[in-house]
Amino acid sequence: MASTALESTSPHDWRYTAEGGANLVLSFVGARGPFTGKLLRLRKKKLAYATGLIPDEVDVEFGRRIIKPLLGEEQIVDMERVAVSKGWLVALKAALSGSEARPAHRAAEDEVDEDAGVVVLAEDLVHGEGVMAIEIKPKWGFLPSATYLSSSSRDIKTTYCRFCMHSYMKKAKSNPALAIEEHQEGYCPLDLYSGDDRRIGRAVEALWRAWELSEGAANNLRFFYEGVRVEPEEPASVAHLHSFLTGVSPLPSPIHSPSASPLPFTSSPYTLSLLVSILVPILLASPLLATLATLQASLDPLDIEGVSSQLGLHLDDDSQPPSPLLSSQPTLQEWIAWLAGRETAEAADSSSTDHRSVLLSYLLSATFKDCSIFIRLAPKPKGAALLGDASTSLNFSASVKAIDLDPKPLSRLPKYYDLDRRIVEAWKTMLEERGAEGIRKCAEGV
Ligand SMILES: [Zn+2]
Repeated sequence: MASTALESTSPHDWRYTAEGGANLVLSFVGARGPFTGKLLRLRKKKLAYATGLIPDEVDVEFGRRIIKPLLGEEQIVDMERVAVSKGWLVALKAALSGSEARPAHRAAEDEVDEDAGVVVLAEDLVHGEGVMAIEIKPKWGFLPSATYLSSSSRDIKTTYCRFCMHSYMKKAKSNPALAIEEHQEGYCPLDLYSGDDRRIGRAVEALWRAWELSEGAANNLRFFYEGVRVEPEEPASVAHLHSFLTGVSPLPSPIHSPSASPLPFTSSPYTLSLLVSILVPILLASPLLATLATLQASLDPLDIEGVSSQLGLHLDDDSQPPSPLLSSQPTLQEWIAWLAGRETAEAADSSSTDHRSVLLSYLLSATFKDCSIFIRLAPKPKGAALLGDASTSLNFSASVKAIDLDPKPLSRLPKYYDLDRRIVEAWKTMLEERGAEGIRKCAEGV
């Protein structure tokens, strides 16, 4: 895409969507043209000083050279870097501050970096007329193999999943009894990744309850209608969600018998049953969750405990200096060589790998454990059903893609180890105090 084309768009054609620590995202809302369905990711800088961020160049190339071959082109969002002038970024920044769309706490901290020289142009999954986008953060989809686990963690880690134990630890700080209660009915990633329709349904129901209970603050489930986040405590916002789901669900409308309680049509249980009826078949038909779980597990065959013990990293010992193996973040070239080496090793059915490659593998597994998936539901243009579309009975099209697949810092490994140890400790203490009787195990079916 030529920068002149991009710079010919008006700064007012780009509307604020979201931002993270290093980037800010704008969606194209101008007249139909080459940028319809696109978003722009802009670099930010701290108001007071510039900090060492991972450059966009690494993200974009990492996605293209490493993530794309592993996940498949269909499962990821296309991104490209476009060079832009300082003048255009200055104008964009002015339009953005005029719109006052940024949260105040963000605007007080950082701003668009008008000297970035480049922006990232990518497919926009949330915007579009009549489009509902559902974001799920699925997290860890496997239980570790027992081989490299210590005797004190082995039984626990092969019975309860990492996400469930981590959720318990976070909630137990304020209310241990409630934390256990929520575990019994709560979201377990192994349900979502199970490939079993009833278990996926159970996972969607648990995600929905957490979304409602937390008033949208739980970040494992989010909805965007026409690019705007749906908030569970705003009736108008939920009504959009409900009427969208009613329009696309295969479920019949509920019949109101005089004896039944006079539930409003937007009652949460009914909206939830619509959501389950729509999401479960889409997730079953997409290869994405299965691919993610396979990659997470195959790239992390040792568990963080095995990585520490087999590589002699001494992550369990604070008195040891950090291993030199952890001192340099992999470059893009190293990632490319690693991926090529992995393919060769697979072809030769060889299990011999050097220490550095074990680390890269673990790090990439961490990326797949922390990504989000977007289910984009877009209404089909009228008449599409007559054109021999494979899903003629449906009046919408669905796509499932993964996002947030940036490389993780290698320097975080000691933190991963420490967190893992604390999570298992908290769970173990709970089991010792109340007994394992009746505590839901993660690998169980419905
Ligand atoms: Zn679990």
